[in-house]
Amino acid sequence: MTLTKRDAEVIWHPYTQQLMARPPLPVIRAEGASLYDEHDRRYIDAVSSWWVTLHGHSHPYIVQRVTEQLKKLDQVIFAGFTHEPAIELAEALLKILPKQQKKVFYTDNGSTAVEVALKMCLQYWYNKGQPRKKVLAFSNGYHGDTFGAMSVSGRSAWTAPFDSFLFEVIFIDTPAAQNLASLKETISSHADDLACFIYEPLVQGSAGMLMCAAEDLDQLLQHCRDEGVLMIQDEVFTGFGRTGKNFAADHLVNKPDVMCFSKGLTGGTMPLGLTTCSTEIYEAFLSEDKMKTLFHGHSFTANPLACTAALASIELLLQDEAQENIRRISSRHQLFLKELIDHPRVASVRQTGTIIAIEWKTESGTSYFSELRNLLYDYFLDKGILMRPLGNVIYILPPYCISNEDLDTIYAEIRKALEIF
Ligand SMILES: *Cc1c(COP(=O)(O)O)cnc(C)c1O
Repeated sequence: MTLTKRDAEVIWHPYTQQLMARPPLPVIRAEGASLYDEHDRRYIDAVSSWWVTLHGHSHPYIVQRVTEQLKKLDQVIFAGFTHEPAIELAEALLKILPKQQKKVFYTDNGSTAVEVALKMCLQYWYNKGQPRKKVLAFSNGYHGDTFGAMSVSGRSAWTAPFDSFLFEVIFIDTPAAQNLASLKETISSHADDLACFIYEPLVQGSAGMLMCAAEDLDQLLQHCRDEGVLMIQDEVFTGFGRTGKNFAADHLVNKPDVMCFSKGLTGGTMPLGLTTCSTEIYEAFLSEDKMKTLFHGHSFTANPLACTAALASIELLLQDEAQENIRRISSRHQLFLKELIDHPRVASVRQTGTIIAIEWKTESGTSYFSELRNLLYDYFLDKGILMRPLGNVIYILPPYCISNEDLDTIYAEIRKALEIF
């Protein structure tokens, strides 16, 4: 039996309508920006395997470090115990994060990093004896699929079956010059009861790679600061070079109280999540009263193998080669987009660093369920390129090691697709 048939017998895939979806493609191995199927056919990974891969698949340095670690210490409980990879990773990361970030809390994926961030902020106020009941978020944000993360994500087809089970959130639009005043007003009117504001900085990935100007976001953040609203910056997607700088925070003046990371954290090799926070948040949990403890933890919290992969990945990220690649991809993207701006099939184009998005003009406007989505997905896959359009928006966010030749192949197929669809 083929892998596809065996898969169909036993597996239920994420974000997949199992009745109608094209059968999943078995991947046998991967290297750099390439995925290989059963017939050794090559696919260019234009979306970093769901936004996670940084330096390329099976990077020899990460493989070597994780292999050595696996022989030494595979896993150990992280309550009452600690280990070198977790300590070293926390040290390395805090060194390159905004200086307000002082403590690292480990989990194992992006959604749980968000859950912890929310709990930190809600319990911060609880521990201070001034409980606050509301959370502020962007109406089209995405922060994960667990219940807390869903609650602070925009209400959509993804949340519809659960809407009545989600906690109440004050939703606002993303900032732009024309709405800043009214957004600030909304924040002020709820300020006394707002525990925190959670946001995706600069790029809202799942919403369709929507982008906002750093200056506009900064104004909103400054207002939150002025009103005493804690800020959770969700850098699960934007972290580790995607935006052209190491973190989206490096584009912003106002620094958050809490930050969330996952996806590219391990270079996209292993599941790991973490939440960092300021001294002020941390100290609100220090007490002889046990009720003030953060009662949260996962079995695989701070898994030593994942921490080692993250350490190796951050080392690679800070080397000239990766930084040069990030600049190279960003400038090639920019040239390509310039050419598309006036294309009759293109509704809009946008870029932040290594991320570009192209919105197709459609009769029905923007929709996640756009028919075009499946046509484009199939078109690119048949040409040997993994793209995963969000409705009528296609985007590229490649591993940093991608060659100019592969980038040119992707650009060329987009040009052709624009003539067809
Ligand atoms: C993907 C994503 C998450 C959720 O991460 P998972 O590891 O998929 O649970 C949270 N926030 C943002 C901004 C994301 O893009």
